[in-house]
Amino acid sequence: MITIALSKGRIFEETLPLLAAAGIKPLENPETSRKLVIGTNRHDVRLVIVRASDTPTYVQYGAAELGIAGKDVLLEHGGLGLYQPLDLNIAVCRMMVAVRQGFDYARAVQQGARLRVATKYILTARDHFAAKGVHVDLIKLYGSMELAPLLGLADAIVDLVSTGGTLRANNLQAVEHILPVSARLIVNQAALKLKRSAVQPIIEAFQKAVVERA
Ligand code: ADP
Ligand code: MG
Repeated sequence: MITIALSKGRIFEETLPLLAAAGIKPLENPETSRKLVIGTNRHDVRLVIVRASDTPTYVQYGAAELGIAGKDVLLEHGGLGLYQPLDLNIAVCRMMVAVRQGFDYARAVQQGARLRVATKYILTARDHFAAKGVHVDLIKLYGSMELAPLLGLADAIVDLVSTGGTLRANNLQAVEHILPVSARLIVNQAALKLKRSAVQPIIEAFQKAVVERA
């Protein structure tokens, strides 16, 4: 049995065409089903629906042979025990620093101010500000980062941005691009060796589908 871990929402939706290209069709829609283990048309392949930030953990420990996870999540996880053979070019967005409209971020940085930064991405944020020589106090949040500057919890946030619509709707503006983010195929390192005959064709089918779509 090959188990593929992925999260609901955009990752699942954007993965469906790649699965189809690999001849894998889920038997149920996780958005409407309460099932967390979803069978497919292939008796030897199943999907498991996990929290986005948990995907690398399932694959690292071999509970799932394969998974699909955002670069954002992989950077925080660290990637131990994982191969990342393929950028799927889905769930594309950017990791950005954003502040309240009117907050002079460049000036605060130039003056060497100590900034309070709220984020779900503590490691990525720490690396980014350390590389720039900006002193920060990081505040860990698990969601709705946009609220933090509005309530005075933080001067800035580090978050994912695609259209910028959420930032605008909350009177925030992006001031710094940290890195481009997209979802990656991840593979348990041991499974790639021990279950190669089942795993490798799935990787190759994904690769072909990604290349053909580009
Ligand atoms: P969660 O709320 O559990 O973090 P999301 O569906 O918001 O789940 O995010 C899952 C993954 O989708 C993220 O890890 C990231 O890689 C990607 N993602 C998040 N926000 C965006 C976005 N605005 N545009 C494109 N991809 C995104
Ligand atoms: Mg989200």
